[in-house]
Amino acid sequence: MEMKEQLYEGKAKKVFATDDPALLIVDYKDDATAFNGLKKGTIAGKGIINNRMSNRLMAMLESKGIPTHYVKELSQRETLVKRVQIVPLEVIVRNIAAGSFSKRYGVEEGVVFDQPTIEFSYKNDALGDPLLNTRHALALKLATEAEIASIEDYSFRTNEILKTFWASCGVTLVDFKLEFGRLPDGTIVLADEISPDTCRLWDSKTGEKLDKDRFRRDMGGVEAAYLEIMKRLEANL
Ligand code: UDP
Repeated sequence: MEMKEQLYEGKAKKVFATDDPALLIVDYKDDATAFNGLKKGTIAGKGIINNRMSNRLMAMLESKGIPTHYVKELSQRETLVKRVQIVPLEVIVRNIAAGSFSKRYGVEEGVVFDQPTIEFSYKNDALGDPLLNTRHALALKLATEAEIASIEDYSFRTNEILKTFWASCGVTLVDFKLEFGRLPDGTIVLADEISPDTCRLWDSKTGEKLDKDRFRRDMGGVEAAYLEIMKRLEANL
C-alpha cells in the first residue's frame, strides 16, 4: 500500500491518503494533549501502544459483530483503515463516575452505576465540544435518527464486550469515548481509536489508574502505566 499526501494532522495522529481512495493510513504519534489542547506533552512510546491496542480491540469487536474501520496493521505506528466520513459526535459510555461526570453532577469518583450511561458531545473544537442530546444532534443534522440508533446500539454492545475483556485482564473499564464514521454506502462503523488515551482503565484490585488520567493529573508513571495495560491486554488476548 503506497502512502501518499498527508490529509490531516490531529493531536495524536496523522492521516495519509493511499493509492486506493477507499483506504487511509493512520500514523500514531507520542504527542498527548488534555483539557481541549490546553495541556500538551509527550508520552514516550504511546503511539506504538495505542496503535497496537486499538487494532487488537477493533479486531475483537469486529469478530463479535461490531463493524469498524480497521483493515490491517502496517507497522508499529501505522494502520490501514477504511476512509469514512466522521459523524461529528463524541460518544461517551460510562460504568463508573469519573472525570467530567463527577465534576458536572457532584458525584464522587468511583461511584458504580446500576446501568451504563451514554452521552454525546458535538465534535467541534472551536465550541469546546459541547454536550448535547440526541434531539439536538437531529436539529443540527449531525446524524439521522437511524444512525443515532445504530451508534447507541454499537456503543452499548462495545461496552459489554470491552468490560468483559478488561475484567479478564484484572482491569475495570470505567468509561470511554467512541467515534463513528459513514462508509460511502452510508453504513455506520466504529472509527478513531480505543486506547488508554480514550478509556479510563483502573486496576481491579488496587484501583490504580492505567490510562491518560496519569498525564492529565500529573501523577507520574505515565509510560509505565501504558506499558502495564498493554502487557495485560497481550497476556489475555
Ligand atoms: N475522552 C476522550 N476524548 C475527549 C473527552 C473524553 O477520549 O475529548 C474520554 C476520556 O479519556 C474518558 C471518557 O472519554 O475515558 C470520559 O471523559 P470525561 O467526559 O470524563 O472528560 P475528561 O474528564 O476526560 O475531561
